[in-house]
Amino acid sequence: MAKDIWAFIEARDGKPRKISLEAIGKAKELAGARGVKLGAVVIGADAGAAAAEVAKYGPDVVYAAEDAKLKDYSTEPYARVLGDLVKEHSPAVVVFGVSILAKDLAARLAARLGASLAGDVVGLEGDGELVATRPVYAGKAQTKVGFKGEPVFLTIRPNVFPAATPDGKTAEVVKVSPKFEDKDFRVQVKETIIPKKERVDVLEADIIVSGGRGMKAPENYAIIEKLADQLGAAVGASRAAVDAGWRPYSDQVGQTGKVVGPNLYVACGISGAIQHLVGMSSSKVIVAINKDPDAPIFKVCDYGIVGDLFEVVPAVTEEVRKRKG
Ligand SMILES: Cc1cc2nc3c(=O)[nH]c(=O)nc-3n(C[C@H](O)[C@H](O)[C@H](O)COP(=O)(O)OP(=O)(O)OC[C@H]3O[C@@H](n4cnc5c(N)ncnc54)[C@H](O)[C@@H]3O)c2cc1C
Repeated sequence: MAKDIWAFIEARDGKPRKISLEAIGKAKELAGARGVKLGAVVIGADAGAAAAEVAKYGPDVVYAAEDAKLKDYSTEPYARVLGDLVKEHSPAVVVFGVSILAKDLAARLAARLGASLAGDVVGLEGDGELVATRPVYAGKAQTKVGFKGEPVFLTIRPNVFPAATPDGKTAEVVKVSPKFEDKDFRVQVKETIIPKKERVDVLEADIIVSGGRGMKAPENYAIIEKLADQLGAAVGASRAAVDAGWRPYSDQVGQTGKVVGPNLYVACGISGAIQHLVGMSSSKVIVAINKDPDAPIFKVCDYGIVGDLFEVVPAVTEEVRKRKG
């Protein structure tokens, strides 16, 4: 019998994250193509609330593993809960939206269950044999990968696949009572420090305005923020800006930061090093502002402005403001 397709759901304040809705969207497509059921899994201290919300987005069943011990993410207890569910129900594929949590959890589970894993997937064919497309060599090439055996774990890149939308139905929510072992809690989370953010995170944003070393000083990000305010955008940064202490690590886009794919990415004073490009080159439209006409970023952008960002960015901001009326 054909096995089900699952999506793993990350939730915040009882609501699924956008990347998780994209995971449901892709998992739903795959389940539809194979004519199998779509399952969703929510794990956490308030999994029940999130599961009730997720149930509206198209799954046939939502597994809600709720336990106070799951309040903070920690690899072992989460891997225990999801691993036990996978062993019990044997889904063919589990789709995660790429996040720091998902990268950690999917890799641990794949290793524990001796299963296949493809990370950062940007294309998926699955009505017959499952074939995933993923970038390699820091985005310079794409590779198609097949899988031996099941289950298969996939993390999908944000903003590549459409997010699921409520379909007017409400799925059954199955409560799961997690069973732990003492060794699952060898690591204890003492405190979670969430940086205060007035803006949307780069991973969730439709528009990102990013600044690099060309910004020259942290206070100069005020001009980036003004443009971001006009566009309703998130603020991103290159590693050079983060390493200089001008921006928090949570803003970093690139190989060792976040991989984003917004509709619009505006790169200001960013040269376009391959490690930065790997994090943003799948953006739908890329605008580069750089005073060096030979900067590599101009090879990947859709619109390039050669000029001093301290003149160009305020001028663009003013133009956007005027056009918005
Ligand atoms: C293992 C590894 C992982 C890495 N991971 C990442 C990563 O995740 N993300 C990342 O970004 N980098 C990463 N890097 C670093 C990467 O190689 C580059 O060093 C970094 O991206 C450069 O940042 P930048 O473009 O801001 O700075 P620079 O390369 O110094 O470029 C600054 C640009 O600003 C322009 N400029 C200067 N003044 C102005 C002005 N007034 N107006 C307009 N333009 C101006 C310059 O022409 C230049 O093109 C990684 C490197 C390694 C080795």
